[in-house]
Amino acid sequence: MKNNIIYYFLFCLLTFLVSCNEDSETDESFIHKIDKTLLKDGHSYSNVNQIRTKHIHLDLDVNFDNKTIYGIARHEMVNTGVDTAIFDIKALEIQKITLGKKGSESETDFIIGENDKLLGQPLLVKIKKDTKFINIYYKTTDKTEALDWLDPKLTIGKQFPFMYSQGEAILTRSWIPVQDLPSNRITYSADVKIPSNLRAIMSAENPISKSEDGLYHFEMKQPIPCYLIAIAVGNLEYRRLGEKCGVYTEPELILKCAYEFVDIPKMIKAAEKIYGKYQWERYDMVVLPYSFPFGGMENPRLTFVNPTLIAGDRSLVSVIAHELAHSWSGNLVTNASWDDFWLNEGFTVYFENRIMEEIYGKETADMLAIVEFQEMENELKTISKGKHPEDTKLKLKLEGRSPDEGMTLIGYVKGAFFLKTLEEKVGRELFDKFIKSYFKKYSFKSITTERFEAYLNLKLLVPNKILFNTKEWLYAEGLPKNCIKLESERFKEVQKLADRFAAGEDIFKVKKKKKKNKITREKFITQEWLEFIRRLPSKMEPERLAYLDENLNFKGCGNSEIMTEWYILGINSGYKSIRPDLKRFLYKVGRRKYLEPIYEALSKNKDDLIWGKKVFLKAKLGYHFISYSTIEEILYPSEESAYSSR
Ligand SMILES: [Zn+2]
Repeated sequence: MKNNIIYYFLFCLLTFLVSCNEDSETDESFIHKIDKTLLKDGHSYSNVNQIRTKHIHLDLDVNFDNKTIYGIARHEMVNTGVDTAIFDIKALEIQKITLGKKGSESETDFIIGENDKLLGQPLLVKIKKDTKFINIYYKTTDKTEALDWLDPKLTIGKQFPFMYSQGEAILTRSWIPVQDLPSNRITYSADVKIPSNLRAIMSAENPISKSEDGLYHFEMKQPIPCYLIAIAVGNLEYRRLGEKCGVYTEPELILKCAYEFVDIPKMIKAAEKIYGKYQWERYDMVVLPYSFPFGGMENPRLTFVNPTLIAGDRSLVSVIAHELAHSWSGNLVTNASWDDFWLNEGFTVYFENRIMEEIYGKETADMLAIVEFQEMENELKTISKGKHPEDTKLKLKLEGRSPDEGMTLIGYVKGAFFLKTLEEKVGRELFDKFIKSYFKKYSFKSITTERFEAYLNLKLLVPNKILFNTKEWLYAEGLPKNCIKLESERFKEVQKLADRFAAGEDIFKVKKKKKKNKITREKFITQEWLEFIRRLPSKMEPERLAYLDENLNFKGCGNSEIMTEWYILGINSGYKSIRPDLKRFLYKVGRRKYLEPIYEALSKNKDDLIWGKKVFLKAKLGYHFISYSTIEEILYPSEESAYSSR
């Protein structure tokens, strides 16, 4: 902090100028006028409508000894002639800032504003009216939330350290000083130095082999929002899966990954068949250590994947279909702000389901959608009763709150069912034509919900004289009555089986001659077992659950989806003998989707809560900040803990 008073004056003045300048982009078409909101972003301090980054080159030195990245962020700007550029930073140490091209740089003044625990700090840089190059010299700190530094014991091989980043939603600013908002698209390049025994990869064009000296160069030539800049460094091996597709992971897991992901090249073909050419040249994946907080993250050209997807039977690959679908929705056409998050996720869940249908048939795709729909209905009820019932709208208002609070199943599944309902109304052929034209029209652009609505009316509903309650779907709470209803015959069979078991029948007993009919875990796919468990009463006698485990071993089956559902039922039923398996699971897995409902179930009674807190105390060392902070809020709700460091 250099001078608070000057900062305040300057910042107020700039805020005023920003608000005066909102109408600068009104020349395209009438649709364009709608998104004035594109120029505002409740989660960034930057003045992108006056001066914006178009390319960033990163010089990064990744130091595992003190878990720090020493970086220079070399911004190439489009400047409308202003004398201040504002960037977002969070928990970064800024060392100096220079103007000009590398080699002819001159130092300039800067001011760092006060820290907001959610947004971080504005970094105001004094520039000249014709400044094009701004170089920010910085280092990350132990408060950097985007980076997860893992000691060897937290990796799969347990011999080498690992580091990866997670930028979405507003964490990129904690490892790179950027204008951190999804409406600004940039290209990037990077020169990265790492220990020579490890390998670095980024969401960019990756070098084809491991470098001997630990120096790597990366290029991302397509413009992306900066939350998609990503890096992973570890003991990584590469395995080719198809012509333009492959997987990186630790050597111990490479064969399992190659087996699990064998269908991915087929998925790419299926996706291209539905919505047109894949625009990012290569589709590679990196399977990270277990602490990764998400199932997958759609970093372009390099999907980040949670190892819990490696179930051994290819049963959880729909997550890859999801991340692949993001190559169109989210990465190619991006939500303009986090209030429009459903544009990223609703489209992606819809598209993911179409890919699954193309490869595995409608019956499987419908079962996937039904399971997701049940989860969304539960979340919808919880949100409706909570502090922010307005979060059940697709278009959100998250200013002043963390974008993470908007990342609920509403955007994902209500969004997808909006599109499914629309598809049913207009017919698949017409709908696909519309979606294809939408992806083409807004390729490499960021758009608002309002703009999407206008485009939908203009290109699909009005010309075909179709009446549809679009506004209700986008801007009203809850679920519209015309929402499409899916049914599955296979689910009905599983429900009958669950009802018989709940009524006390011995479903595992078969006559000698009918051994084929014996109920085994292989008899049903993951979604059918989820339906089976959910159909059981929410509390059962522990002995009955133990009997089921004797026959099916849900508690240690290795399929995280089934295990999570089973643990929740077990906790609610006081089935204490799951605890050793549950503890192992909580120590190993850092994926928030699983941890959150399990810890929530544990927090419901005193004895479980005490046990849960004890487990968390050790398990948290293996969780990323994103999961860690969510769980902390569940276990210690009254304490100010969400943004405390580990
Ligand atoms: Zn997604």
